[in-house]
Amino acid sequence: GFKRWGSGHFGAGADGFVNVQPLADGREIRIMDVVNESLGMGLKAPLVIRFQDLLRHRVTQLNECFRKAIKEEGYDGEYRGVFPIKVNQLREVVDEIVEAGKEFGYGLEAGSKPELMIALAMHEGTERLIICNGYKDHDYIRLALLGRKIGKKIIIVVEQLAEVDDIIAISEEVGVKPLIGFRAKLQTRGEGKWSSSTGDNAKFGLNTAEILFATEKLRAAKLTQCVKLVHFHIGSQVPNIITIKNAVVEATRFYCQLVKMGFPMGFLDCGGGLGIDYDGSRTNFESSMNYTMAEYARDVVANIRDICVASNVAVPDIITESGRAVVAPHSMLVVEVFERINKRETLGVQHQPKVKHKVVTDLELLLKNKAKLGKLERFHDAIQKKEESFSLFNLGYLDLENRAAAESLYWQVCEQIAKEIRDSGYVPEELQDLNALLADQYVCNFSVFQSLLDHWALKQLFPITPLHRLAEKPSVNAILVDITCDSDGKISTFIDLQDTKDHLPLHPLNNKPYYLGVFLTGAYQDIMGDLHNLFGRVNEVHVFLEPDEPNGFYIEEALAGSRVSDVIDGVQYQWEELCRKMKAQIDAATKKDLVKPREGVRLVEFYEEQMRSKTYLNIERTPKKKP
Ligand code: PLP
Repeated sequence: GFKRWGSGHFGAGADGFVNVQPLADGREIRIMDVVNESLGMGLKAPLVIRFQDLLRHRVTQLNECFRKAIKEEGYDGEYRGVFPIKVNQLREVVDEIVEAGKEFGYGLEAGSKPELMIALAMHEGTERLIICNGYKDHDYIRLALLGRKIGKKIIIVVEQLAEVDDIIAISEEVGVKPLIGFRAKLQTRGEGKWSSSTGDNAKFGLNTAEILFATEKLRAAKLTQCVKLVHFHIGSQVPNIITIKNAVVEATRFYCQLVKMGFPMGFLDCGGGLGIDYDGSRTNFESSMNYTMAEYARDVVANIRDICVASNVAVPDIITESGRAVVAPHSMLVVEVFERINKRETLGVQHQPKVKHKVVTDLELLLKNKAKLGKLERFHDAIQKKEESFSLFNLGYLDLENRAAAESLYWQVCEQIAKEIRDSGYVPEELQDLNALLADQYVCNFSVFQSLLDHWALKQLFPITPLHRLAEKPSVNAILVDITCDSDGKISTFIDLQDTKDHLPLHPLNNKPYYLGVFLTGAYQDIMGDLHNLFGRVNEVHVFLEPDEPNGFYIEEALAGSRVSDVIDGVQYQWEELCRKMKAQIDAATKKDLVKPREGVRLVEFYEEQMRSKTYLNIERTPKKKP
């Protein structure tokens, strides 16, 4: 599937390794080389790798798509895109985007006071835009006006009618004229997982009546000349281009009406929503998109122009707040599989009770006489017998040996049926989940809640592949489970390219490190991850192409993940205090002669050393013995 979701950046070589081409220009980096170099620096998986050149590439691509569309459509305005900081606030990410966006006048968008404080400081010069969205207290507005005072083009987008009074009062207090926009609550319904961002019940924006009230208030305050922008946002990851076209048309109508009412205007802000084709299907399914970035740019430009021309209104400069599309591809998560939970290994070996209960012999018959009954009938019979065996056990009529034998036989029947399904075309509905049920669980050293929150919260799909051994045929169907003590901490739905949506075809483990890459994780995941089970931030490396080597790279920055002491401090303990308490208890145990003094000292040292260790498992491999 690399060709489908990889946008020319990701692929596998004949040597079985996954490569990335950050600039899609033929220069490629073997991702395992980055993993190995990171290991050499003491940074084990879980590991986030950021390909900084890819980030730059996306900024350039977005701006060039709009420049091209504007040229081709003969559009009389400019593209004045802004990056919404909330999609990835990390300094290195924002730094790179600001730098890459210099030549395009690419600005920033803030959705909160802390984000505005970043935007104000990181934003260079006075030409690029800063768009202020979100709920605003007085200080947020004061900060925006501070920016105005020093000449920045900061536009405050009104999301709630009450903000208008605040803006009027505070601009008088500060003595500077604001630049103002309105966020319109469009009737065009969004589509996809984030569609509630618009419509009557959206928590943001002004309805038509509120926009009119707002204009009256501003007129009365003699701030008519400050109204510059109409904004809309119909939700992130809009899968269908038709939805985008409709929203652009509706918002442009608002724009033209405001111009005709005598407001100077000048900007139309189409918000975010430009998607990423996570599953590579190029469809209007939630994890995909049925359009390209170039098509998006053309449609935005052409629709605005058509409505403005028909309304006899000069076209505005176009803003988009595309976040996901700019940052998602640049980063990936590397996880190490270290364990396989496999029903077959233990349940496939049948326990032989000294005296077999009838339920066990019945199941044995079912397994032997597969030709007699159909798949579905055998499945039903096996379920019945398994449940019967559990009831018998609970009532005290079945011993442990017979229960173990019944469980093994049940799984063997299921496996037999699953094999037949794989070889036949039609699968009855009840049997469709059998493959998932029988799939192995590959235990990976990471936390879904820290690193892939949208998968847990919204069932968002990310492409996942092994980073090596791709020249070997994968022979194990597996789902992935993380190391949190939470049964939700798993990945059991995958992008569906060859009927593999409920499992991933993987390689058998061979007691050597086995690495998987989770791709396109650069948007939202970094900041939304939480500390469930106190698994903290993961290690991180920032990779650049080496200019003078054809396929070389260098790690410009390496950030060590959280230590146990960091996360413990984050929940209001003090690690030093915990160490003191532990030492006191070990000292007391020494006095009672439970431990020898020398051992006591070692135990204290070990406890303190663990405070400084990383929060994820420190994998040490022990040779396995067969059960
Ligand atoms: N602008 C606003 C107002 C948003 O709420 C969002 C996110 O939902 C964005 C921009 C970024 O959207 P996307 O990441 O889909 O480009």
